[in-house]
Amino acid sequence: MLDANEGTREIAEEIRTRLLQNPSRARQIGTFGFIELEETWGDETTILNTARVSTSNRRLSSVSQLTEKDRALLEHLLGEQHGTPFETVYFRYRFIAPIFVLRQWVKHRISTWNEFSMRYRKPISAFYIPDKTARTVNGFEIMTDEQVDRYADLLETVNRFYEVEYESICTRIDENRASGRLPQKSGGRDPFRARARELLRSVTPVANYSDVYWTVNFRSLMNFFNLRMKETAQYEIREYAVAAYALFGEAFPLLKEILEKIEQEKG
Ligand SMILES: Cc1cc2nc3c(=O)[nH]c(=O)nc-3n(C[C@H](O)[C@H](O)[C@H](O)COP(=O)(O)OP(=O)(O)OC[C@H]3O[C@@H](n4cnc5c(N)ncnc54)[C@H](O)[C@@H]3O)c2cc1C
Repeated sequence: MLDANEGTREIAEEIRTRLLQNPSRARQIGTFGFIELEETWGDETTILNTARVSTSNRRLSSVSQLTEKDRALLEHLLGEQHGTPFETVYFRYRFIAPIFVLRQWVKHRISTWNEFSMRYRKPISAFYIPDKTARTVNGFEIMTDEQVDRYADLLETVNRFYEVEYESICTRIDENRASGRLPQKSGGRDPFRARARELLRSVTPVANYSDVYWTVNFRSLMNFFNLRMKETAQYEIREYAVAAYALFGEAFPLLKEILEKIEQEKG
């Protein structure tokens, strides 16, 4: 792969660090993909307490207080789709995924996004290359190794185009500053370089990776799991959904168990 730009190398280093520091909450996906469940707010007691506002004064302060009755109520709420108590628990994931995956993910509108900017930074120069599993259907290899090589060459060319043209623009800006044709930079962002990034980002392929903080409530997260872990979802977003589900399950084993029981009962 193309020599990654500096920002990309820093992100790769950060992924390595996060995987070491937080192994139970972070997963690598493919060569550059990554997902981490960084933070959660609320738990089973939050769901039960908010649901009980309509029926009783019983409140729990810790998951350790949960009884069989509480568990049965959780099952009932989930099974009968009493949705709003599940909107009181929140999750923040960080994921680094190809832009085409992001375009599918962002359709989950009941959530909040903060995404890497190609206006303020150069794009991440790493791009997605499908491995054997990704490009094989029922034992039939859809893309051959030679095709993947040509695909990677093309993406490298496009990414190199960005780097070369950006460098060239920066050199001209600096030369024009030195000769006095352009004003000296006066603090803050350089408007000329910023415009160069705005213009050149248009060539960024959807295979390139981007970086997102995704904050989502539990109800919407269940909808995401339901739609994106299915066989009908595209392989690449499914990989992220499956990883997101595994991370959720490690943080909330009881909720995972109840969800799976209800799914089984639905058949
Ligand atoms: C296999 C698959 C293929 C897909 N193909 C395409 C495609 O070709 N093109 C495309 O554009 N999208 C496509 N989608 C995206 C899909 O249409 C949904 O936008 C996406 O799955 C998000 O689901 P959602 O609307 O339930 O989630 P969210 O947007 O998070 O919404 C959650 C729930 O809130 C409610 N809601 C949200 N917004 C509204 C609203 N405006 N009005 C009424 N109720 C609302 C709904 O009950 C919804 O289920 C595809 C999805 C899947 C899983």
